[in-house]
Amino acid sequence: LFITFEGGEGAGKSTILKIIGEELTAKGYSVLETREPGGIQIAERIRDIILNTRHTMMDARTEALLYAAARRQHLVEKVLPAMEAGTIVLCDRFVDSSLAYQGAARGLGIDEVWKINEFAIAGCMPDLTLFFDIKPDQGLKRIAKNKEREKNRLDLEELEFHEKVYQAYHMLLEQNPDRMKHINAEQTVKQVKQDAMQELELFLS
Ligand code: C5P
Repeated sequence: LFITFEGGEGAGKSTILKIIGEELTAKGYSVLETREPGGIQIAERIRDIILNTRHTMMDARTEALLYAAARRQHLVEKVLPAMEAGTIVLCDRFVDSSLAYQGAARGLGIDEVWKINEFAIAGCMPDLTLFFDIKPDQGLKRIAKNKEREKNRLDLEELEFHEKVYQAYHMLLEQNPDRMKHINAEQTVKQVKQDAMQELELFLS
């Protein structure tokens, strides 16, 4: 089983993924917790290029292609072998992130970004995607708090970008009601975890 965790900044998906991983392991499931680029050397090197290049220096399509390439390598080297071994794969971000960030927010178009990702993943879509829903202003505030930055340092441009990410995720949710499940991430960690676990158990039963 391939389960992906999606959402904007400050949604807490990585925290919840870890807790759920521990719970499933305690219940006796074999679990792989991963995130793109997932410690895969080739994918890490690609990610390094993306993160260490000033955004203004990299063409948006180049960025989207690099994410898709890193995704492919992580899928082939780590996700697929685990799935074949019967392990439940919990993955922090996957193709929906590219559709929302590169497709919608960077303005490449969701359909265009889907085309290159369709090639990259070659039919391997998640069985279940949990979308952790937190409004962008709330999510960014959480991050600012964590980083002990001043809340008012969040500039408008940043918020606008994340509003686009947010709207795209909601559109994807509407278009994929069977695969994508909505989790209210504006609650306490305990409550969010409970809701996420409930969706997972429905799926596993
Ligand atoms: O998962 P996490 O929040 O740590 O992601 C780190 C950042 O990578 C995100 O905030 C986002 O800006 C960026 N990202 C992206 N496109 C993707 C995946 C991640 O721009 N496809």
